[in-house]
Amino acid sequence: MLTNDELARWDRESFFHPSTHLGQFARGEAPQRIVTGGEGCYITDRDGNRLLDAFAGLYCVNVGYGRPEIAQAIADQAHQLAYYHAYAGHGSEAAITLAQMVMDRAPQGMARVYFGLSGSDANETNIKLVWYYNNILGRPKKKKIISRWRGYHGSGLMTGSLTGLQLFHAKFDLPLDQVIHTEAPYYFRRPDAAMSESDFVGHCVAQLEALIAEHGADTIAAFIGEPVLGTGGIVPPPAGYWPAIQEVLDRHDILLIADEVVTGFGRLGTMFGSDHYGMRPDLITSAKGLTSAYAPLSASIVGQRVWDVLARGTDENGVMGHGWTYSAHPIGAAAGVANLKLIDSLGLVGNAGTVGAYLNDRMQAALGDHPHVGEVRGEGMLCAVELVADRDARRFFDASEGTGAKVVAAMLKRGVIARAMPQGDILGFAPPLCLTREEADRIVAVTTEAVAEVLG
Ligand code: PLP
Repeated sequence: MLTNDELARWDRESFFHPSTHLGQFARGEAPQRIVTGGEGCYITDRDGNRLLDAFAGLYCVNVGYGRPEIAQAIADQAHQLAYYHAYAGHGSEAAITLAQMVMDRAPQGMARVYFGLSGSDANETNIKLVWYYNNILGRPKKKKIISRWRGYHGSGLMTGSLTGLQLFHAKFDLPLDQVIHTEAPYYFRRPDAAMSESDFVGHCVAQLEALIAEHGADTIAAFIGEPVLGTGGIVPPPAGYWPAIQEVLDRHDILLIADEVVTGFGRLGTMFGSDHYGMRPDLITSAKGLTSAYAPLSASIVGQRVWDVLARGTDENGVMGHGWTYSAHPIGAAAGVANLKLIDSLGLVGNAGTVGAYLNDRMQAALGDHPHVGEVRGEGMLCAVELVADRDARRFFDASEGTGAKVVAAMLKRGVIARAMPQGDILGFAPPLCLTREEADRIVAVTTEAVAEVLG
């Protein structure tokens, strides 16, 4: 058994961590945590801490930690058939069963599901399918993708370009030319405080129309958006936003990709966010909640309109040259089947709605009037507390002060994990969907204490 010291040293010397300050980590100036176990909404670490994980890992462990049903399904699959590929009509019982279960749960109008490994690669697949679609339709110029500032869609070359956060562009020569960004539906940060919500929706629509006019609808293939902005700040859209955007897209023959990597499979209290907001996507991206992260698996769900053209494309051109060794991996698929069964049997979509609303109400009651809280917002089992220097003037803290990170650190000392969202001083909460009211109370109490410690 390795001692903690050995692991800690190897971690600093050998392990390239994602989304980490590399220099500080190597020098031992940034914290490390070696996680050893988890049960329900709690994780444990090698130092003996038991922490309430109010972010479900990276909003992905939706059924909670330590579920024996999923562990058993993974073990059984590994014993029976750890791997076979899915190319050229091959498959496993697990992958085929999961495909059917996804289609049974997907919004209306969906035709097929393609399995990958991560949210990033599922978005990459969806963009390639959109390009293929327009080539088959004889529209080779119609290729640009509209994304929103503050959207998060992954960190590959294309998906990092779609992401609308500075950290993911600077020094990486992104975004690529095919990606253009439009206004985020972030009412709290509206350009003019006097705007009503419906004025602001009108403003977002006008910005989108102007971008389409600037580039020409004949060059724009698709619009991608998360039903609720996630990593960009956990921001539910203002009322009427999605129907208004949908109308513009329909008018210009621009496809809609709903990035449901966070919202898919229950987080908003509905199976998909598209249903929640009345979006009519042509393609849906899903990952995290599909397996609750017990194994890596993603889904690109393809709507009928696109599917028909893809099928025609292969009749005209032969086999579609898209796939990975690990597409539809049997172990991931087995985890997915067990996970979706558990979501149903435990009623977790309903719990996300009711306990999520409770968490948001309690957070609002505890912190809504604090002079350094600009807004408490959320939807389903998503909640955010936005910290501000001056509430009335909507003046933000200087980023260099790291106010959000300080509050999150003060929460950690008290045994609760929240996430300091990467752009702005925003405390993010996305607990497992099995959260109880007592656990929600504890999250709110600790957040309140930590805000008081850092900001008075
Ligand atoms: N899309 C959304 C909405 C996400 O939140 C994420 C990850 O947080 C991704 C895509 C990328 O997923 P992954 O990190 O699995 O590549």
